[in-house]
Amino acid sequence: MRPSLLNPLFAAVTTLAGVGPQVEKLYRRLFGRDQTTRVVDLLFHLPTGVIDRRARPKLRDVVPDTVVTVAVTVDRHRPPPPHRPRAPYQVYTSDDTGDLVLTYFNARKDFLQKLLPVGERRYVSGTVALYDGMRQMVHPDRVIAEADLAKLPLVEPVYALTEGLTLNQVRKAVDAALARLPDMPEWQDANWVARERFPPFVEALRALHRPALPSDVLPEGSAWSRLAYDEFLAGQLALALVRAHLRRPAGRATPGTGHLRKRLIEALPYSLTPSQSRAVADIVADLAKPERMLRLLQGDVGSGKTVVALLAAAAVIEGGRQAALMAPTEILARQHFNTITPLAAAAGIEVALLTGRERGRERNDILEKLAFGDVHILIGTHAVFQEEVEFRDLGLAVVDEQHRFGVHQRLALAKKGEAVDVLVMTATPIPRTLVLTYFGDMDVSELREKPAGRQPIATRTIPLNRLREVVEAVGRALAEGRRVYWVCPLVEESENTDLAAAEDRFGALKQHFGAMVDLVHGRMKGADKDRAMARFAAGETRLLVATTVIEVGVDVPEATVMVIEHAERFGLAQLHQLRGRIGRGAEHSTCLLLYKPPLGAAAKTRLAVMRESEDGFRIAEEDLRLRGEGDVLGTRQSGLPGFKLARIEVHGKLIGPAREDASLILARDPTLASERGQALRHLLYLFERDEAIRLIRAG
Ligand code: ADP
Ligand code: MG
Repeated sequence: MRPSLLNPLFAAVTTLAGVGPQVEKLYRRLFGRDQTTRVVDLLFHLPTGVIDRRARPKLRDVVPDTVVTVAVTVDRHRPPPPHRPRAPYQVYTSDDTGDLVLTYFNARKDFLQKLLPVGERRYVSGTVALYDGMRQMVHPDRVIAEADLAKLPLVEPVYALTEGLTLNQVRKAVDAALARLPDMPEWQDANWVARERFPPFVEALRALHRPALPSDVLPEGSAWSRLAYDEFLAGQLALALVRAHLRRPAGRATPGTGHLRKRLIEALPYSLTPSQSRAVADIVADLAKPERMLRLLQGDVGSGKTVVALLAAAAVIEGGRQAALMAPTEILARQHFNTITPLAAAAGIEVALLTGRERGRERNDILEKLAFGDVHILIGTHAVFQEEVEFRDLGLAVVDEQHRFGVHQRLALAKKGEAVDVLVMTATPIPRTLVLTYFGDMDVSELREKPAGRQPIATRTIPLNRLREVVEAVGRALAEGRRVYWVCPLVEESENTDLAAAEDRFGALKQHFGAMVDLVHGRMKGADKDRAMARFAAGETRLLVATTVIEVGVDVPEATVMVIEHAERFGLAQLHQLRGRIGRGAEHSTCLLLYKPPLGAAAKTRLAVMRESEDGFRIAEEDLRLRGEGDVLGTRQSGLPGFKLARIEVHGKLIGPAREDASLILARDPTLASERGQALRHLLYLFERDEAIRLIRAG
């Protein structure tokens, strides 16, 4: 149960004075919530900046177009003349150094006469502009009598808004919310807090919403950093609890003998790169431990993850168990099957393929062999974790291209066997900070170098109006016997877009180059797709027009040219993935990014990054910078939560310490029973990571 101390923060915002059900709906929109907004949501809505009213110059010294607070005497009122009721209402004021006109549109006379009585001194705050050499302030933000000056916030927070919601409404509501803040126990380590000069949680929130200095609301400031660290620690603690829980029903130690791996390595037409060998060693060591393995194998496209997965599977099979390899698309599953089968055969390993397409007798046959243990590796799509699929003894689940799978599917697969070790492979290089954030529950192996003998890819950007030259260049490449991918963003021209349609392009290119042109797209039947891919792989066709179905993992080393139409429409990660389809063999490769001018700033940067770099890690970091962390992982899709307060770009360096902190905490106090442990439970509830607390109880 939630500590009662926190109840006021989880009450609906409508319990705050001045917030009715209509306004609550606006907050819901603002925060993107589908449930009632609560006080805590408002408190976590941090300012985007401030209005700084501290400048208090004499009128003579006012810098135009800056916000100032000036002390003036009201000299006279000048209402609009009767024949021009729409003219502004002006109030003439002065100090001993100059004049200032206050200008109001659609003003009520009686209101202004009360606000600015002639002959009185008033403090006026707002932006001064020069009109015809006259100082003017249009609609002052604040007009205050001398007696009330102390109440004027000289540094005022500014918040993101949504239509219908005003800044003043939000400020007032936040005021009321701040008043609800209880005294909280300190959940952070005292030494750490002192070293980082972090204020206590409640003080940090107050400093951000009621800044004394503009620097108080900077994300890199101590108040915001404190809250970011709180959020990271909550996340890492939750992950660590989940991990401890997952590891408790211990995995089974599966020490391999090495004999199958030896045969496989001998059968390989190449030798492993050092990082491949290291990854295999990491995995084999994990498998031999009695705890369950949860490892992320991260490697840029073409870095050779498949063979690592195969060797991992071999280690499990040596121990008498089975392995499953799950790919996100049928094409990929089939491709894995085609590469792995001949290698596996060299070691006497039986491989089967199961996708949505295997039906009837064939399917039953596979399922039967699987249940008897006659199939050692099952490769497939999500069909692999359907209920009827039973393994004799599943020891390892390999999930390729993690970000395409939801967390649920990952867990569903792990349930297929008792204490299944899980290896997740991703080709989208994920920056270290994000790995820690979202996969803090996993160990990580990285394949950093590409297999030897790879040629760099020359990447060029070309406007679409030079399409003809591109077609001619492609013609020359084909004449040299090279193989070409031509990628289009959509299958059919939809009414309101001018996206190049793959089918139209296919038609046009076919007229040009004849039968060597082929087409694959997402709406084709699986078997047709496979046939098209197979023809291309075999060199029967040599120009393959494709939609992004070829994005992930497809491996035709002979393909050396890639044309991407409307490259400006693609994200950086996707472009990198696509380009990774070429440059896989010994020949030099070329990537042509066709774009439709004019380019927006972000698209321009993306294309420039593609031109300059082939380093997946650099590209991933750029992508992160351009898009923000949620998008990079497709977190919405995978159901991973984003952050409420922390900003990866600013606070990312705090994730590492938070992770270490979390594991230290649980090592000393696995049930969060100590005084700090109790305080940390508050933290988990505050950031809604409390599911993890239930795991403590269950264990
Ligand atoms: P990815 O990491 O993108 O899944 P793959 O596993 O598909 O990469 O491997 C890409 C290509 O590199 C394949 O053709 C594979 O046979 C080859 N390959 C893998 N490891 C090596 C190596 N150590 N030396 C040479 N080629 C390799
Ligand atoms: Mg792959």
